[in-house]
Amino acid sequence: MRAIQATVNLAALRHNLAVVRKFSPASKVLAVVKADAYGHGLLRASPGLEDADGFGVLRLSEALALRESGYSQTLLLLEGVFAADELIAAAAHGISIVVHNEQQVQMLEQAVPQLPHPLQVFLKMNSGMNRLGFKPNLFGAVVKRLKACPAVRPDIVLMTHFATADDERGIDLPLSVFQKTTQGLPYSISLANSATILRHPAAHYDWVRPGIMLYGASPVTGVAAAHYGLQPVMQFTSEVIAVQVLQAGETLGYGARFSAETETRVAVIACGYADGYPRHAPNGTPIAINGSISQTLGRVSMDMLFADITHLPEAGVGSEVELWGGLVPVDAVAEASGTVGYELLCAVAPRVPFKVVG
Ligand SMILES: *Cc1c(COP(=O)(O)O)cnc(C)c1O
Repeated sequence: MRAIQATVNLAALRHNLAVVRKFSPASKVLAVVKADAYGHGLLRASPGLEDADGFGVLRLSEALALRESGYSQTLLLLEGVFAADELIAAAAHGISIVVHNEQQVQMLEQAVPQLPHPLQVFLKMNSGMNRLGFKPNLFGAVVKRLKACPAVRPDIVLMTHFATADDERGIDLPLSVFQKTTQGLPYSISLANSATILRHPAAHYDWVRPGIMLYGASPVTGVAAAHYGLQPVMQFTSEVIAVQVLQAGETLGYGARFSAETETRVAVIACGYADGYPRHAPNGTPIAINGSISQTLGRVSMDMLFADITHLPEAGVGSEVELWGGLVPVDAVAEASGTVGYELLCAVAPRVPFKVVG
């Protein structure tokens, strides 16, 4: 069998959850496990997050899977429900919902007679990102309607999401819009994603919503996850399956993108873009062979990629390769490839076997 594997470290998840609590000691933690727990596997990763106060998912099926596995915490559908039948199922299983548009408000108002229990609503404001939520000038009226709606529990949570919490523009403007609009309303508040947790303590409030930091990657480009004390949760590994020695002038792989200037020993590794490794990784992307840092060479192909082992004479067929993990941060591979750790973690392909440790 091919040696490629992804290992999920539950101890690292528990550690990163503790880091969230250290940054945000007074807030409840809604662990965001959408996108199959950022590619780690929802039910594989959730045992490492069982101390969270709640979980945020996208689809009703994910929330139901968590309930069926015994998680009794708050479970929040981050885009809310898409049809009335989902509303009934969410109510039956005590699943909380985001309400971000008029259609969802009407669905709640019209579902009253069929609902087994009222639901907890996280009402979303569009504070400037212009993705989901009600504009500030409409927000107060929606709060009143939800307060009057028997389908809605009294413990409404007011939320918004920031577009630039990770960069120098920060959150001052949307935060002041949110604060002004919700002033005096007697409800809990939820604003903070990972970047806000790490960089903007004034916006932590009642519920924080960490995603990427739980998995040990950084939400802030150019700042390593280790700087915040985070540990990588996923280790993506494989093996060397062939060795080629290139003479000066010989080229490597599709498109002959790498050309040897001197004699170069090249490891051929069982991992390609069909496994989720980014095809855009340039020559020189960091990779570890037998525990030593090296760099990729040539174009990533569907099932294989190349690394320089000229300086690693002991490396050969069977040597262990870390694509990303504890030696090579996923963010380093992402940065070299023009993307973010989020995308690489989510893109590990279904054909890659997973293992859980810790
Ligand atoms: C994905 C998401 C988060 C988590 O964001 P990270 O940057 O991964 O911490 C928080 N809140 C909402 C609404 C989200 O969609």
